[in-house]
Parts: sequence; C-alpha cells; structure tokens
Amino acid sequence: MKTLIKNGTIITDRNEFKGDILIEDELIVNIAREIDCEADKVIDASGKYVMPGGVDQHTHYSALCNVGDKDTAGYETTDNAIIGGTTTIIDFAPQDPNTGLLDSIDYRINERARGKACVDFALHAMVTYLMDSIFDEIDQFPEKGISSIKIFMAYNGSPLHVDDGSYYRILEKAKKVGATVFVHAENGEILDFLRNECVKNGQLTPKYHYVSRPPFTEAEGVRRAAYIAGKVGTPLYVAHVTCREAMDQIREAKGNGININGETCTHYLTTTKEVLENPDFNEAAKYVCSPALRDQEDIDALWDELNSGLLTAISSDHCGIDVAELKQAGRDNFTMIPNGSPGAGDRFQMIWTYGVETGRISKQKFVELVSTNPAKINGIFPRKGALEIGSDADIVIFDPAFRGVVKHEDNPNGVDYNVYEGRPLKGKVETVLLRGSVAVEKGKFVGEYGMGQYIPAKMYAGCYTGI
Ligand SMILES: [Zn+2]
Repeated sequence: MKTLIKNGTIITDRNEFKGDILIEDELIVNIAREIDCEADKVIDASGKYVMPGGVDQHTHYSALCNVGDKDTAGYETTDNAIIGGTTTIIDFAPQDPNTGLLDSIDYRINERARGKACVDFALHAMVTYLMDSIFDEIDQFPEKGISSIKIFMAYNGSPLHVDDGSYYRILEKAKKVGATVFVHAENGEILDFLRNECVKNGQLTPKYHYVSRPPFTEAEGVRRAAYIAGKVGTPLYVAHVTCREAMDQIREAKGNGININGETCTHYLTTTKEVLENPDFNEAAKYVCSPALRDQEDIDALWDELNSGLLTAISSDHCGIDVAELKQAGRDNFTMIPNGSPGAGDRFQMIWTYGVETGRISKQKFVELVSTNPAKINGIFPRKGALEIGSDADIVIFDPAFRGVVKHEDNPNGVDYNVYEGRPLKGKVETVLLRGSVAVEKGKFVGEYGMGQYIPAKMYAGCYTGI
C-alpha cells in the first residue's frame, strides 16, 4: 500500500519546506520537493502544514482516581487524542495493590489497551504501591521496553508516596539499566499540614486547593529530588513544572552539573488559578489538578523557559475524571476532589494557538515540544516524533487558516467537560495518519479502535544522550 501526500508545507523541529511524502505500508520511504509515482492513495495537502504526529509523554488513561474503585476514562477514549493530533502517548502504568511494576505493565498492555487504543503507546512504570519487591523489577525494564519510572514525592501516608530512601534506591537501580526517573515533585509533609489547616479553618472550597499548594512546596520538591539524583548520577525528569520558583531550582541544579530536565503542561501555559475561585463548585472542580494552577507571571516565565531550553516538552497530564459523579466526592471538602482534567485532545491545537499564533514560540519549537522531544526523552525516536525516511508514518495535516473555538461536542473526551471550552482556536488538525493508515479525516475518527500498538522504548534515552 502506497500513500502519497502532495503539495504540503512540511514542518519539522528544524526545518520548513514545500514537499511531498511517500509512505509505503507503515513507514515513510521518501521525502522530496516533488515525488511523482503511482500510489494507492494521494492526499492533497495544498495550503496545509504537514507535521509529525504529536507525542504526549504524560497521560493517565484507565487509572484509579481515588474515588471508590472508579477509573479515569480508558483507552477507548483515545480517539479524542488522535483527533487532536496526538498519535503516540506515553501512558503511566500504575500498580494495583500488591501488584508488581512488570505485572502492572503487562496488565495494561493486554487488558486495558488491547482492542481499544486508537494511538500508539509506550509506558512509564509508576510506583503507586511501594513494596520491597519493586526495586529488583527495574533490572528487567530493558526486555519490557520500559525506559522510565515515575515516582511521587507527595501524597504522604498513601502507598503512592515514595520516601527519600526508596527514591535513592530507585535512582541507583534506574542508572544501572539506563532508565530515566520521572518525579512528581512536591513537599508532601508541608502540603499535608497546609491542607489540614484549611480543613480545620473551614476553608473547604476548591480555591483552597491552590492556597494549600504554594509554589515553594513544588520548588522544594524539585530541589531535593535534583540534589539526590545528582549524587547518584541518574538523569532526572521533573513532571509538570508550573512556576518560577521551581524553574529557579532546575536552573540552579543544571548550573551545578546535575542532569535534570522538565516539562510543563497545556493548562499551566494557558490558565491561571482564578478559575478555582468560581463559586459554582462544578466549574471550579474541573480545574483541580496537582501541582495547582498559578499566576500569569508564571505562565509568561514558562513560555520563556520553553524557548531557553530549560523546559523540554509540553504534555497534557490527561486524566478523564467526570464532574457529574467523580469530582462530586469533594463537594464539601476540596481535599477529596480527585485530581486531574482531560486534555490529550486539546494540546496540539491549544499550543499552536497560544504558542505559535501569539508569537511566543516558532513552528519549529512547536514540533520540538509537542512531538520530537517527547519521543527522544522516552526512547522512541526517530521511530516517533520525526518525519524522516524509515520513521513510522505518523503524520498530522494541519489547516492553519481555521478559525473557531473549542467545543466539547466537536471532539468528545470520554467525560462531561472540556477545560478549554469556548477558547478561540487558530488552526485545526484535519487529517491524521497512524503508521500509514488514515485515522482522522476532516476532524473525524475513521480508524479502528485497537489500531494503536505498544511501542517498546529503548534504554539510555534522550536524558542520557542529549535531547
Ligand atoms: Zn500526571
């Protein structure tokens, strides 16, 4: 099967040129100014941008959300991600109680994603049930295709919490096999104190979510995580950086020779904390995520540091938690609101609109941050994140002339809201190919549920070798 994309403007992380792309079966086999050959399918991309499919390195599909045994929206809702221009996710594989890291990964591939995923996916191991057997499991990451492990410094008193001693052991093990350690950096003990104080004082509305998670608690987590990782010599990746204080710590650590990188997320770049002050609980609860939303000055600084290279990727931290049922758990007490919001289907167009169209980042920087770098960081480049001969034909054809607004009904995400509802959009994902198959046409999913495959990652990924 040969597919030819003609007459588009090809945009990569370092280039922009008019050209054609020839695909044979699942792979890109030729890119040139003009390709004339027989093809089974010809797509005319005149007036459109042709970019590598988005890679979202931070998603939580089908994960427990701490309300009974309810899960976040599952892989059957990844049609939303691919309609929004993301062709590969690196999803987290949380542990069930008393279940090891590797069994949790197998379970996710075989029971959760198979027959459902509409995007390709790699996985991060994730410690959500700290027990003594997990440390030795890291030795087997290379044969499983797992190049990263995520730990939570916060959530003290729950099985998610990784104490500093266990963190140190994980860093040592990860370094031995070339795995990158991802960290959710917040000082859990101080957060617990501040949250309990709010509850004691009857400060129970969603606003107190941000009040009880001040920037310095994030910065302290980053500082400690970086210092310990530096002592072991394991590359550290800071998930969802939100604020100036945390970036100061990353900058200082880098200056001290520590191998540290960080990402930020769409919502931290586009939304300030005032949305949590909405007196309508349902409206405010949609925006409860951790770390909390910050100020405009933080947003400005985040964009600057994406350009400077201090931050190296933009993720969605997608988490499909509905308002009608699950967020209600915290109606009378913000500490009970399950954390997280959907966004995998919005990241590509929101970052284009609020990054490229506002002049904050170049088109090349856009591709780097939403596709190429996350592929490198997670050991799946250049198979993913690149328009190169031999790469998977994961391709977005993008209409830069589109003008409209975000509407939940245009791209449903498996829950009952979109945090970007009504926001103006400039540019729209029109056609998406996943490994050579057309999965999205005119903004509608035309692929098959289950077409997404597990992509094993290579060890010693970008944080070891350079991004
Ligand atoms: Zn997350």
